[in-house]
Amino acid sequence: MTSTMMDVPLQVRRLLEHGATIHGGSRVVTATGTGSGTHETTFADIARGAARLAGALASLGVQAGDRVATFMWNNHRHVEAYFAVPAMGAVLHPLNIRLFPEQIAFTANHAADRVVIVDNSLLPGFAKLLPSLKTVRHVIVAGAADRGVLEGTGVGAHDYETLLAAQPVTYDWPDVDERAAAAMCYTSGTTGHPKGVVYSHRSIYLHALAEAMPDVFDLSARDLMLTVVPQFHVLAWGLPYAAFATGTSLAMPDRFLMPEPLAAFVAAARPNKGAGVPTVWVGLLQYVEAHPEADISSLTDLVVGGSAMSEALMRGLDARGITGLHAWGMTEMSPLGTFSRPPAGAAEEDVDGYRLAQGRFAAPVEARLVGPDDEVIDWDGESVGELEVRGPWITGSYHLDDDEERFDEGWLRTGDVGTITPDGYLRLTDRARDVIKSGGEWISSVELEGHLAAHPAVVEAAVVGVPDEKWGERPLATIVVKEGEQVDVAELRDFLATKVAKWQLPERWAVVPEIPKTSVGKFDKKIIRAAYAQDDLN
Ligand code: ADP
Repeated sequence: MTSTMMDVPLQVRRLLEHGATIHGGSRVVTATGTGSGTHETTFADIARGAARLAGALASLGVQAGDRVATFMWNNHRHVEAYFAVPAMGAVLHPLNIRLFPEQIAFTANHAADRVVIVDNSLLPGFAKLLPSLKTVRHVIVAGAADRGVLEGTGVGAHDYETLLAAQPVTYDWPDVDERAAAAMCYTSGTTGHPKGVVYSHRSIYLHALAEAMPDVFDLSARDLMLTVVPQFHVLAWGLPYAAFATGTSLAMPDRFLMPEPLAAFVAAARPNKGAGVPTVWVGLLQYVEAHPEADISSLTDLVVGGSAMSEALMRGLDARGITGLHAWGMTEMSPLGTFSRPPAGAAEEDVDGYRLAQGRFAAPVEARLVGPDDEVIDWDGESVGELEVRGPWITGSYHLDDDEERFDEGWLRTGDVGTITPDGYLRLTDRARDVIKSGGEWISSVELEGHLAAHPAVVEAAVVGVPDEKWGERPLATIVVKEGEQVDVAELRDFLATKVAKWQLPERWAVVPEIPKTSVGKFDKKIIRAAYAQDDLN
């Protein structure tokens, strides 16, 4: 028996139309000046801009399926591109501006980007990159800039506003197949070349609805979301699309991501929620501790994802009346996998444990744990295995890359290792490649990092496995000490000894001015291992 339901395709265009009409007054607030200024626009205006941008791209010859890249910060024009490009049937490709130039060129060439929209503040860097981008025919510069740097490169150089001004504020959006490509992002390539993940209209739509749910991001038209997670990283965790589905206003920090201007932007825009990686929130907390006049009192809920939320961060946020909400996901998963809120009726003493877990799987993400002999492991909260997932917004392959290693009979191998409780709470113990294999035992680098970060004199701690003749691998702890504080290694070791088994205690320590970070703000353990190998940390 077939159903009587209409078969209406799930399209980015529908999210745009919904947001622009039902929530036409919702806002996109972008930081300007030194972060303390703001530029405001509405969803209705974004939709008009998106229609104009689609007209402009069509006038440059962009057709269905063509890749249109962005080289931009989080701002209102980037939101316009997020809707215009997929809604017109083309494919949005936000380039990760923080990758090494060769990696950016690799991703742009691999994706075969035809047009790139570039923020004026990023133009000088982009111009240097342009000769290595083989498929780009047009560059559109957003904001006032000297486009002379693009002269002689053979590509068309355009001004965003001039191009859009020549177009009408409506566009005849095509009826695209919901399974067609809408956008693509590359993994940040912490191991080898970045890999391309291509999202469909359907996957973006379903992800937006699920993300908004109460036990997930809990989004509504009454929220203003500080979107620190970059638009060039996993589509800013899908937040612009979820915002248009729900009417949630967006606070976009543009290039003002350092703690001081970010605090100024929070004071000026007064968002109640926020989303970003732990290092951003650690930096913001440290800043407001040192500057009591900084006003971040509007914030009530901060989503922490991309790396584990440490207990120290959770407590630091608690002390300011802000709830840190832990989320786990991946580029390959659009990125939503789990979100952690304690279950109804959780005993008081269990609440923090639940909050520090990676959380429960969002419907309709399916998960299983696989052991060393490829056996599927029980959800008993204790047995450790590699996590595999599947679902309608999880990639089943990589773009033009036949890496079969990452897939297992229709499941994506996440490369993350952990346990799942009988009531479905995922707890990651580590990434498969970061687990420290000492003798026959595994040491969780994440656990040691969490404990060390809780020491009052420590800002951040990263632990990696380094070669050891006797044990194969042993932990090396690298520590950043708080300004004005002093601590010696013996004290840190004693502190750690109260938390973990003796055989897990690192013998090797390095106090460093800063922990190297990847393009999206995670600890770059590859660099730490390399520095150790070259004796730079001894
Ligand atoms: P990359 O793999 O290039 O770093 P992603 O952002 O896709 O880029 O990284 C996904 C990985 O980040 C996950 O597989 C996991 O190891 C880690 N991760 C994401 N969120 C969390 C979290 N809440 N806790 C611990 N690890 C996390």
